[in-house]
Amino acid sequence: MKARTEFKSLSREDLGQRLRDLGEPAYRNDQILQWVYEKQAESFGAMSNLSAGLRQKLSETFTLDSLKALKTRNASDTTEKFLFQLHDHSLIETVLIPATPGLTSSSDRHTVCVSTQVGCAYGCKFCASGLEGIKRNLTAAEIVDQVLHVQKLSGEKVNNIVVMGMGEPLANYDSLMRALKIINAPWGLGIGARKITVSTVGLVPRIKQLADDPLQIRLAVSLHGASDDVREKIMPVNKKHPLKELLAACDYYVNTKKRLMTFEYILIDGVNDSLDQAHQLGAIARRLHAKVNLIPYNPVDGLPWKRPGRDRCKMFAHTLKSHGITSTLRMEKGTDINAACGQLRLQHERA
Ligand code: SAH
Repeated sequence: MKARTEFKSLSREDLGQRLRDLGEPAYRNDQILQWVYEKQAESFGAMSNLSAGLRQKLSETFTLDSLKALKTRNASDTTEKFLFQLHDHSLIETVLIPATPGLTSSSDRHTVCVSTQVGCAYGCKFCASGLEGIKRNLTAAEIVDQVLHVQKLSGEKVNNIVVMGMGEPLANYDSLMRALKIINAPWGLGIGARKITVSTVGLVPRIKQLADDPLQIRLAVSLHGASDDVREKIMPVNKKHPLKELLAACDYYVNTKKRLMTFEYILIDGVNDSLDQAHQLGAIARRLHAKVNLIPYNPVDGLPWKRPGRDRCKMFAHTLKSHGITSTLRMEKGTDINAACGQLRLQHERA
């Protein structure tokens, strides 16, 4: 039997072509898309306004579902974390965050944090996702399905996406963009491009490629160090793409897109939280007119890093302010459910 195609990796045009190949009229296209993305049908068999013959053909041609929910964990602040199993038994995590100060301004937002890879190849020293290396890229369908499943399991309409789960999104560029176009499309999930944020470790060529793509999504760069010596100690990627190059790519992004960007900066005790780093970060952010999200480090089992005390975090933010930079000190949600990326999966696999 011919291998089936994942339905949720298809654009509307791709589906049109496949339906023509099956000898079906064009109006079926929107009917089927509506079943999948609006009504969230669980099988082609459930699409009751299609003929039995077409439903059969669709089931033989496409697969519809790529994830199985294994467990969910509720944090007391209502952040909810989902562990999904893929067809090859790999595990990924997705988080639902009802309101994210620092990422969104209003409290009625339902943000989903999606993963783009199983594991991660970049090995940032503080991060749980990279501890066991990379297994594989997710397909576009597996990325789209995370949002659909969370919507279904939670009963909440998702209206904000942050690509800040497991993996490096820009290292899985083609599937990421395919998925985001489906998430953005009016026939898909209909989530505005400006409500979609992609966070990267700083892959210079891909940041430029993203700048040249017409999709107006938001960019966040994980900086975590404001000078090469500090950044290099915790983010090996800095050796390949040092700050000078990275910031030039950010300049290109901001100038091409005419949009502001965000720097994420985790505060780790005694590593990158000196006021000297704050001054250097202030200068970088000012040059790019960027916003800064400060995130007190979320400790990971087995790693030696700690978050600084509250006063130190505040001092850091205060120093940024003296450069005219607004920062949010993100009071994290989900600390008690290990919401930092990769933590739930790691616990499950080591259990
Ligand atoms: N690879 C992408 C997206 C995934 S991580 C990136 O690096 O941006 C999303 C954010 O969470 C990144 O800024 C990452 O550095 C941060 N992060 C990873 N582990 C963390 C931890 N234990 N505590 C707080 N933030 C963490």
